[in-house]
Amino acid sequence: MNQPQHQLRPLALLGATVVDGTGSPPRPDTTVVLRAGRIESVGPGIDLAPPDDAEVRDVHRRWILPGLLDAHAHVESSANLRALLEWGVTAFRNPAAPLPTQLSALDQAPAPTPAPNQTPTSTAPPLHAVRAGPPLDYPPSSIPRPGVVEVTTADEVRAAVRSQAAAGVDLIKLYVRLPPNLVRAAVTQAHRCGLPALGDLALTSWTDAARAGIDFLSHAMPRHPSLLPADLREAYLRDLRARRIHPLKRWFELVDLDGPEIREMIRALRDHSVGVDPTLVGVEVVLGGPNAPEKRAVWSKVLGLVSRLRTSGVSLLVGTDAPRPGINAGESLHRELTHLVDAGFSEAEVISMATAHNAAALGLAHSHGTLTPGRRADLLVLGANPLAHLAHLANIEEVYLAGVAQRRPDNNGQQHKPTARRHL
Ligand SMILES: [Zn+2]
Repeated sequence: MNQPQHQLRPLALLGATVVDGTGSPPRPDTTVVLRAGRIESVGPGIDLAPPDDAEVRDVHRRWILPGLLDAHAHVESSANLRALLEWGVTAFRNPAAPLPTQLSALDQAPAPTPAPNQTPTSTAPPLHAVRAGPPLDYPPSSIPRPGVVEVTTADEVRAAVRSQAAAGVDLIKLYVRLPPNLVRAAVTQAHRCGLPALGDLALTSWTDAARAGIDFLSHAMPRHPSLLPADLREAYLRDLRARRIHPLKRWFELVDLDGPEIREMIRALRDHSVGVDPTLVGVEVVLGGPNAPEKRAVWSKVLGLVSRLRTSGVSLLVGTDAPRPGINAGESLHRELTHLVDAGFSEAEVISMATAHNAAALGLAHSHGTLTPGRRADLLVLGANPLAHLAHLANIEEVYLAGVAQRRPDNNGQQHKPTARRHL
């Protein structure tokens, strides 16, 4: 899908330090050649002469990275797609989108304009997207129709999954009120149709969902009473019914991250190879926002949960849940990475997570996530070293989408001046 328009002339980027997404050490003074929308070669500047027909750009004292991927962005409008691009996000997974047949009626073109120093006849290609259809939920769903498919029996679940598979979705989304038997039926049918299943679940525990074979779980807030210590569950449910509490804050207050319930959950996630996108920026919003007392009260336990998932070898993806109030498309991915550093990851690790690891988990390892010959030429040119300070990841001078430089507004809404370059 989304076959990009090809760049018309090869481009050689000379002299940058390459951070290739795989976690390998950075490679200074490297030449990257882009041809026909793909990466043609990556090699030491002294060995790799630019092809004779290439436009040459000097990017000494710059850093080149693969484009970032957001594993959880409900982004379809052209404004939000443009925002993703401006922050260096060149591919994403939308875990709850209109069906492909409905999407074509939406204003979904990112409308990125080729930069002024680019061959003017180059055509801007689209961002790559992996999409679920409308979520399956047990009634009454908190999502209004037609944004949701309400199901009450296993037969209805199987029919809904088959219908979405026939409509061309890339994965099946399961929502909060589905009980364990319907989650199991949906996962089994999704796999029969050759599709993965992703859950944002509250009435099925993560342990049960993992054992049912679910492929992905979203939001680091498992929030099921069975994951609390046994002697605290009744009190939690009583408080919930009486609506006396902030449910998520209370759950985190009561959970024992080193207790048998969470240890069993983490083992199930790891043993069943479930990919989890914590969307810490989203959990923060549920807890009232960055400075809310509810957030401050339990944030160390939220990060503690993510840290335990990490050290136990659970596959973690980087996603945001943008766009929502407090979660802006593109910018939120950078904040998510900062939270992940707070949870114990290094800068190099979070960059690999948002590039190579996200791409592999989304089934895009053949085309995205690393600076490898043959992959799509989606990449970023940064003005400062992101391995020294993660904030430098936002110091984006250029974004290339399938080899085509994108025009980026600066802080005043003006366009960036073309990057200085010289022909060698
Ligand atoms: Zn979401």
